[in-house]
Amino acid sequence: MGDSGRVVIVGGGILGTMHAIIARRRGFSVVHLEREADGRGASVRNFGLVWVSGRRTGAELALALRARQLWAEIAGFAPGTGFRPAGSLTIATSPAELAVMREAAELADAKQREFELLAPAEVRAVNPALGGEFLGGLYCRADAIVEPRVALPALRSALAGPLSPSYEWLPGTEVVELGANGVRDSRGAWHRGDLVVLCTGANLTGLAGQHLAQTGALASSPGSGGCGLRRVRLQMMQTLPFPGRLTTAVADGDSLRYYPAYEVPSLAALPPQPAVAAASRAQLLLVQRLDGSLTIGDTHAYDEPFGFDVDEDAYDHLLDSAAALLGTALPRVQRRWAGVYTEVAGTGAIYHRSTVCPGVVLVTGPGGRGMTCSPAIAEETFLTIEGLATGSLTTEGTVQP
Ligand SMILES: Cc1cc2nc3c(=O)[nH]c(=O)nc-3n(C[C@H](O)[C@H](O)[C@H](O)COP(=O)(O)OP(=O)(O)OC[C@H]3O[C@@H](n4cnc5c(N)ncnc54)[C@H](O)[C@@H]3O)c2cc1C
Repeated sequence: MGDSGRVVIVGGGILGTMHAIIARRRGFSVVHLEREADGRGASVRNFGLVWVSGRRTGAELALALRARQLWAEIAGFAPGTGFRPAGSLTIATSPAELAVMREAAELADAKQREFELLAPAEVRAVNPALGGEFLGGLYCRADAIVEPRVALPALRSALAGPLSPSYEWLPGTEVVELGANGVRDSRGAWHRGDLVVLCTGANLTGLAGQHLAQTGALASSPGSGGCGLRRVRLQMMQTLPFPGRLTTAVADGDSLRYYPAYEVPSLAALPPQPAVAAASRAQLLLVQRLDGSLTIGDTHAYDEPFGFDVDEDAYDHLLDSAAALLGTALPRVQRRWAGVYTEVAGTGAIYHRSTVCPGVVLVTGPGGRGMTCSPAIAEETFLTIEGLATGSLTTEGTVQP
């Protein structure tokens, strides 16, 4: 690809949109296809957490830190994303949780995460809305927040401004066939480029399904031992506006069980979760939206077929946990939804990238870190492709830490 190269991107979620942005930054013209009128997948259903705190030491943390830097740069020309470097507080309500946080705050890379263990009064000084009872909190200044319901159009309008005539957004365009350096949409039109990037989200059948099955990339593939791409379903909700102001994102002690950054010796001493939380693999994450409402989640289901309905027991548990940390009743829940993401399980990979056919690359599977890492993943796609072209890189595929 040269300066006049053309990139076709399939998928209007955050991965596809960040590939569009990085492609434009590198001088390529972009045609961006989305089957819906706008992104409708995980990218609009998430918390909008740019979450550095929980990332695994090493390549995953490095990717998240690079992404955090890129998010700040990109938000400079797309302020409608609502990017804010608000940081996060993970709150300990038991000595066992506090012990895990103390160890995490002493790890060699704690400085990169901008971790600081705070006493209760210090937690309240940072985030006065936390009026409940707790023993302390782990402050992560590196974490940030964006607004998932508006970030995609905000990024696109920055791309499509009068100074960027080389960006074409084609919603309502479903891709149904792949060929070398091209895709065909359901109306029969071919869209060709020097490179095609498929960012089709949690769809592991359809377009790339045959390729994924044939290459044994799926956790469900025979002989995979459950390692590879799999889907995860989460339950979420959003309240009416909360009268107070949360200055940071908030997580409860259960989140220590789900993020690899906290795999420290004292983690084993955490008592089991309450039965309802264990059944739905719940952790509390809480983010205040710009309109004052609270996004609250989440749960984790791994076994397909997923339920088509949402479970109230998990919601009751999450609402009780949030009210306990805030020390006050919550506003009425206005919206409930579920979302599905794709992750690479059991291989140590951070996400999946593979060549589906000549000139067509699939990028998916960032799991619960896709909103965070998407700009850096997109950057790696172009570095990998350009490296292959110049012969400086010899491999591609699922990126290993
Ligand atoms: C409830 C929930 C909470 C989360 N919270 C966070 C968080 O706070 N922070 C974080 O970092 N990550 C979070 N994640 C993960 C993150 O949201 C995902 O990793 C990320 O959004 C994946 O982006 P994507 O673009 O790959 O997929 P998607 O957003 O699903 O986008 C894929 C798009 O491709 C389109 N498409 C598919 N097939 C075709 C086709 N054939 N033709 C045309 N278009 C097609 C789809 O319509 C869709 O719009 C969360 C996920 C969920 C579900």
